Amino acid sequence: MKILFINLPFSGHIIPTLGLVQELVKRNIKVTYLLTSDWKEKVLYTGAEFSEYQNSKKLSVQMKNAYYAAIKLVSDYDLVIYEQFFFLGKHVAEKFNKPAVRIFTSLASNELVMQEFINAGGMFGIFRSKWICRQWTKEVAKGIELKTDCWLKEILYNPPELNLVYTVRHFQPFADDFAEENYKFLGASIYQRALNKSFTMPPKKCPLIYISLGTIVNNTKSFYRKCIRAFEHENVQVIMSIGSVVNKDRLGKIPDNFSIYSFVPQLEVLSNTDVFITHGGMNSITESLYYGVPMIVIPFITDQPLNAKRIEELQLGKKLEFRKITSEMIRTTTLSVMKNSAIHKQVLEIKKEMHSKNANVFGANVIAEYMSKHC
Ligand code: UDP
Repeated sequence: MKILFINLPFSGHIIPTLGLVQELVKRNIKVTYLLTSDWKEKVLYTGAEFSEYQNSKKLSVQMKNAYYAAIKLVSDYDLVIYEQFFFLGKHVAEKFNKPAVRIFTSLASNELVMQEFINAGGMFGIFRSKWICRQWTKEVAKGIELKTDCWLKEILYNPPELNLVYTVRHFQPFADDFAEENYKFLGASIYQRALNKSFTMPPKKCPLIYISLGTIVNNTKSFYRKCIRAFEHENVQVIMSIGSVVNKDRLGKIPDNFSIYSFVPQLEVLSNTDVFITHGGMNSITESLYYGVPMIVIPFITDQPLNAKRIEELQLGKKLEFRKITSEMIRTTTLSVMKNSAIHKQVLEIKKEMHSKNANVFGANVIAEYMSKHC
């Protein structure tokens, strides 16, 4: 059995899927992961084969490049797996009469969820204009027969039969809209990730606060400075992951209770963390809940505001607004969440749900069963 796995080059959309790929490879299923060359090493680490398409700064060009590279390969494969963002995945499969499985690394979308993503700005923001969405789709999918006239509608109204979602059903808004037999909620993608040799977990002497704004919205020097001021005189330890755009040397004097990195092994850090200050990316949230860590969510774009709203609704943490944030707000909110027993209770409940199945083993079982029926 051979699987062609297709994705666009965004960390948050790829990182969880590598655990699933590792699990499929362990079962002697041959997987080829089609991605841009910067992901080669991480893909090979999973044991999968790597195939590449040309990267571009433009999403439309990335989509087209991925599509045409996939078309050249797909006839040799039994199943296509694609992340929902690469909406042409289903069309790649259909062109060659292959079955397809879709992965959601964010919340599963219905009309209301999609509308919230669009309103929140970011990559989806420009598609607030239906005309732009139609024109963009026409350009990207030239010569491809779509079911609808816009890629966001393709995501909503042209789903494959089987969809795997990297969160738990309890966290999914409007969960009843997603039928049990078509939508499998996996939970958090916890797996052995490639080693980060430049990182050693500091010994724990007092409560640990972990701060990260993920891999896309992390160019926020003033925010990191506010965090430093918030905790420099507190009896807490802070690990801050700042990404590769902000230079650590530009953050002023680093207090002794701070350790700052451009990237950390997040699972290892979360397994020792008391409170996580996050931008509310889906992966960061599910990983945090897996380790039973309450959150302060500071959302920016796309799915983050809805995720943050969900965190407050389910009493898993608190939300702060980036534009209004001060050091004092960061300090007091974090310390109060750390002591909030109601939040801790809810977080532990959802942690139990997360631990009730191993996301990637479950995902691989579902895929294996699907392949046995359709391939
Ligand atoms: N991540 C990590 N180390 C870091 C920062 C991020 O391993 O220092 C990983 C994190 O574990 C998660 C992903 O990067 O799996 C970020 O995905 P998320 O959906 O949270 O946010 P995005 O980067 O897509 O905004």
